[in-house]
Amino acid sequence: MNMNAYAAKVLKDLETRCAHENEFLQAAGEMLPSLSPVLDEHPEYERAGLLERFVEAERIIIFRVPWLDDQRRPRVNRACRVQFSSAIGPYKGGLRFHPSVNLSILKFLALEQTLKNSLTGLPIGGGKGGSDFDPKGKSDDEVMCFCQSLMNELYRHIGPDIDVPAGDIGVGAREVGYLYGQYKRLTGRHNGSFTGKGLTYGGSNGRTQATGYGLMYLVEAMLKENGHKISGMRAVISGSGNVAIYAAEKALQMGANVIAMSDSDGFIHDKKGIDLDAVKEIKLTRRGRISSYPSLIGTGRYREGASGIWETPCELALPCATQNEMDRTSAEALVKNGVIAVAEGANMPATIEATDHFQKAGVLFASGKAANAGGVAVSALEMSQNAMRLGWSFDEVDRELRSIMNRIFSDTSAAAEKYGCPKNYVAGANIAGFLKVAEAMMAQGQV
Ligand code: NDP
Repeated sequence: MNMNAYAAKVLKDLETRCAHENEFLQAAGEMLPSLSPVLDEHPEYERAGLLERFVEAERIIIFRVPWLDDQRRPRVNRACRVQFSSAIGPYKGGLRFHPSVNLSILKFLALEQTLKNSLTGLPIGGGKGGSDFDPKGKSDDEVMCFCQSLMNELYRHIGPDIDVPAGDIGVGAREVGYLYGQYKRLTGRHNGSFTGKGLTYGGSNGRTQATGYGLMYLVEAMLKENGHKISGMRAVISGSGNVAIYAAEKALQMGANVIAMSDSDGFIHDKKGIDLDAVKEIKLTRRGRISSYPSLIGTGRYREGASGIWETPCELALPCATQNEMDRTSAEALVKNGVIAVAEGANMPATIEATDHFQKAGVLFASGKAANAGGVAVSALEMSQNAMRLGWSFDEVDRELRSIMNRIFSDTSAAAEKYGCPKNYVAGANIAGFLKVAEAMMAQGQV
């Protein structure tokens, strides 16, 4: 596919202006060329300067977060909220706490979030935030102190009609509770300005499971369109956090055999099938390391080094840990071992080279913008429930999630077909997500 000249110009300009933002440039570099057929069809977008506005965050807030550790020593981290696009609704996207967090990573996540949120068909714009704070090894008191201090600044920039954060890497139920508690103390309002909340204070049934379950619903739809089924497939799932655990749970329910999982230190391989209860006990209850799996249950093998997981032969590979965890070497190993489908539970886990390799080899490949949209979709349902002062049952939410994921897949597939790249579910997701944002931006004027 030839790259549209306008897309090429905007990308080149970004490469100069954001020269040090590698992850952001990677995300834009993957997205812009795939929009070429849409830009060819809509020359008015260039006259309206639409792409230049689309790739520039509407607002970025950066602030310091001072907090006290258990020895009462002052500590300082940096936090940031990228309010990327409000074209179709209030900014919406998670907060990430991890030492690697920087502006480039948050901008790439916010850009992808904008298209993902559009794909859900729900009225939510795109945002992302986070801090270089590392919750690992911190006491509950330290995490609470940090979360409260972060919210002391963030609360003035969020709200149910403005910006609604949620969890992401390092921000789970505990952190969301501390963050939302402080928001409520400062504003005096219980107005649902955060999603992923606990069930006792405004959370939605099914939000914890939503990203992982949604991933599997989309995988099921993609396999069905191509004449395959999940049942009997060997699945390899990287990570052992929120997304990975519930993807594994649904994969098992669908009849797959989950044979490998990982954390950032290494991975476990159990040919007979991973014992998911043991993984939950280690990662969710004990906040421990996956290396303790073989000694806990007496089977399976642990190997140091997270990326080795992709050498495990399987039919279904689900990267659910972090960006760029699957490179060209990993893709080559998976293809050599006969992988049939790859779907991104994490955001941008496959490098551009890895994605190209899968697509050239005829492997079915679903990008994160479509595949992991289930989490934010149920977050939007949580916002609706909060606004209506209602709580839906798990089954109601799960049914809605499945129908949203099926629709996302059919929109993605239809867009790929219509714009001349059938079965290219990466381009299809980019195009279907972008079209709605572009139309909203055109309708709302240029300044
Ligand atoms: P969690 O913090 O719950 O889990 C992250 C997992 O990934 C942990 O097991 C972590 O291991 C592991 N990990 C981190 N870095 C690496 C690495 N370099 N190699 C291998 N494993 C690694 O985060 P989530 O599950 O919430 O998020 C995972 C991904 O899914 C992220 O990309 C996130 O942006 C994306 N996502 C999450 C959504 C959600 O609803 N939570 C929604 C949509 C996307 P360790 O314990 O060692 O840190």
